[in-house]
Amino acid sequence: MERMCKRGRDFVQVYNAEGAVRLCSWIKDGCVGNLIDNSLPEVFHGEKAKRLRQCLLRQDYSQCRVDECPYLMTGEINDLQTELGNLPQYPEELYLAFENICNYRCKSCTICRMNAEKTKEELEQNYDIIEDRVRQAMPYVKRISANGLGELFVSKRILKLLSEWRPKAPAAECSVMLETNGSLFDEEHWKQIENLGKYKLNVAITIMSFEESVYQHLSGVNYPIEKIENNLRYVKKLREKGIIDFLTIATVVQAENFRTLPQFAYRCIEEFGADFVRLRPYDNWGGQNEMEEFFMNIRNPKHPWHQEYKETMKHPYLSHPKVHDQSGGENSYGMRTVPYELSDLKWRILTEIINNPNQIIQKLSEMNNPVIYGMGNLTAALVREMNLRNMPPLCIIDAYKKSGNFEGIPVYNIKEVKGLEEKEVSVIVTPVADVQELYETLNKYGIHGKRIPIWDIIGDRETAERLKYINRL
Ligand code: SF4
Ligand code: SF4
Repeated sequence: MERMCKRGRDFVQVYNAEGAVRLCSWIKDGCVGNLIDNSLPEVFHGEKAKRLRQCLLRQDYSQCRVDECPYLMTGEINDLQTELGNLPQYPEELYLAFENICNYRCKSCTICRMNAEKTKEELEQNYDIIEDRVRQAMPYVKRISANGLGELFVSKRILKLLSEWRPKAPAAECSVMLETNGSLFDEEHWKQIENLGKYKLNVAITIMSFEESVYQHLSGVNYPIEKIENNLRYVKKLREKGIIDFLTIATVVQAENFRTLPQFAYRCIEEFGADFVRLRPYDNWGGQNEMEEFFMNIRNPKHPWHQEYKETMKHPYLSHPKVHDQSGGENSYGMRTVPYELSDLKWRILTEIINNPNQIIQKLSEMNNPVIYGMGNLTAALVREMNLRNMPPLCIIDAYKKSGNFEGIPVYNIKEVKGLEEKEVSVIVTPVADVQELYETLNKYGIHGKRIPIWDIIGDRETAERLKYINRL
């Protein structure tokens, strides 16, 4: 019997104010539906969810974010396999993260900007629907988690749902996982959800540093670190009483905090009683530009402090059995190694088109019905050379431009492409980043034929190899 990642089978996360649902928080574009339009069983058993499970059954992890998924990074994925079997009506595990609000403004996080365009009324209307649909599902759920995409103790709707949870399964079979930044984890706030203490309770608290200035800078707040330390002492008491069954203290490893990781881990275990210290690798979720990413991403071998980071990671305390480097000791994979690398690679391609047009035209002449994807500088340079030799492309396609005309060539928005149905075409893809996602978009809109990334038609092998690596092709 074929086996698949257990998380992809049993888990769903409701992760924004649209009620969007995904099968795993580390799947790229893992949204399989939303709770505004459909009930949870409809989404859980929907077509998109089925397709993703089929991928996982083939052990195809191309949809998974390798730099985020701890199971892929550490190889533990082999132990996390299960059979698909008959899926129940509701998932066993539900992760509530639809209230994306937080009292922090962490540098590495974009959560708080997610609802900037919605009015309070729109948000409340959506929350009413989501809350209702989640409430119907909750009795059938055995494992529940919250929040992680916002701060738990300011998420009023989620706190209410948790406080009312009455699972059908016996308490001994149920478990809870809470994620919080710890800044409000005191007696007053805990009382709101203390009912959860009767289940197996895991708590994960993420703290950027115990150095006050670093903590404040990375968390975007001016709270005293003493408040966090006092809260951790309160949490430790809950752990000692057995109310909390497992306590994780985590941090996001980056340039500003890596030097104090040994002391951080020591305090988490010896002073605050953590069962597990999770060192999460930094990843850019869209909040940083290339320059910021470069300086924050200490796992990048080109970072000027990378060697010092590697040495720090050899500190004996970081080999403590309770300390877990979620990066698996790996350097960051497929990320930009130097700031503006993509711009630099793009310039190199443009220079090749301008300096060696005959070589490029020769390659183009070997293609069936060339079509160009992407209306940017590279396309403009290609079209100029093709028109000069009277061999224009059939059309230009772009997902973000209006349909129209460029230098006599039809330009189609991807939703309005015409005239390609019967033709065997070659699609020259000019964007140099996120190319796999782009291929999927072309498939989605029924644009088939051979895909040729722009770097395959230039003579610069070094640029081509680097772009293949960045795009994981
Ligand atoms: S392999 Fe990792 S990212 Fe992919 S579904 Fe499983 S847990 Fe999620
Ligand atoms: S505490 Fe978590 S949700 Fe809040 S800003 Fe920081 S990373 Fe984002």
